[in-house]
Amino acid sequence: MTNQFAPDYIHTIAPYQAGKPISEVAREFGLDPAKIIKLASNENPMGMPESACKAAQAALTGDNGRYPDANGFSLKKAVSERYSVPMNWITLGNGSNDIIDIAGRTFAKNGDSIVFSEYSFIVYMLTAKAVGATGIEVPSKNYGHDLDAMLKAIREDTKIVFLANPNNPTGTFLEPEEIEAFLDKVPSNVVVVIDEAYNEFLDDSIQYDSTAWVRKYPNLLVSRTFSKAYGLASLRVGFGLAQPELTDLLNRVRQPFNTNAAAQAAAIAALDDVEFLKKSAENNAQGYKMLTQAFEEMGLEYVPSYGNFVLVKVGDDVDAGARVNLELLKRGIIVRPVKGYKLPEWLRISIGLPEENQAFIKALKEILV
Ligand SMILES: *Cc1c(COP(=O)(O)O)cnc(C)c1O
Repeated sequence: MTNQFAPDYIHTIAPYQAGKPISEVAREFGLDPAKIIKLASNENPMGMPESACKAAQAALTGDNGRYPDANGFSLKKAVSERYSVPMNWITLGNGSNDIIDIAGRTFAKNGDSIVFSEYSFIVYMLTAKAVGATGIEVPSKNYGHDLDAMLKAIREDTKIVFLANPNNPTGTFLEPEEIEAFLDKVPSNVVVVIDEAYNEFLDDSIQYDSTAWVRKYPNLLVSRTFSKAYGLASLRVGFGLAQPELTDLLNRVRQPFNTNAAAQAAAIAALDDVEFLKKSAENNAQGYKMLTQAFEEMGLEYVPSYGNFVLVKVGDDVDAGARVNLELLKRGIIVRPVKGYKLPEWLRISIGLPEENQAFIKALKEILV
């Protein structure tokens, strides 16, 4: 399996399995692409906000032969104002996956270790492998992070701990008190990355302020994305927040032009579009009720979720996820099998528009009842 071109650890990487694109399912199953429903990649079912779309288009009417602002001044200024943080805390990313990757390349090297939870975002494992670090996967507790066990798993050679809150693909939530107690105990030379890709979906009653932790802990990096609640998945833009010392290091490793001009402009507009964000969160809360009520009626186990998706158990055998997924695909509904996460009996359903959720529920009933 190995060859001369790459170190052995590169050969251990299994390429990331993205949600199936609509065009591919249309081709494979002979379906009309316009009728296919995609609930597979936790994208915003409302699409890109109109405001952001206009801003991106306007950005493309200027002189596009020029490079974008390598420092993303205007977007950083907008983020700084929106989240009340200094501009020298901000690292822009080509999606927050880029922030995760930059963190891996900045803080870890071949032979080090990186700690993350079982059933957490697979990109943490991929990041560890890409730099030749050992990925230490800590068994989960009730499908979420077991922070005590994660603390114990930290070794001399551990450079990064990844937490996802809410977590993907399980949707579990860590209480702010638990996180703060964890941050107090992590050795100060270990960088903690809190991936908050789904933060904007949290109900006001449980929302918390991680920027206060960034102020307090010099070893903390918080990552955010415009791909989910802000609806900009196609443009690839996210950011990291950390004190200037970490931010300076990240910016040494970051590609100079990692966020493009259209993405920067769209993100600025999306940040201002509070109405869109509110509507996204409302649609999500309603859709969550609709899906989970149906699961309860059908007697299906699901993991209570704080994100814009729900993990549901569709059978007891190890082929259940694949079998039900295939039946859904035949009916033009794309969801996400999570066998790669060692959850072969489960499927992850992104919350869609009401009619999309309804169509999914109808299909699932046909298949299972
Ligand atoms: C979707 C997701 C991201 C965001 O990815 P982008 O690169 O910003 O599109 C990051 N972390 C988790 C856990 C996610 O589920």
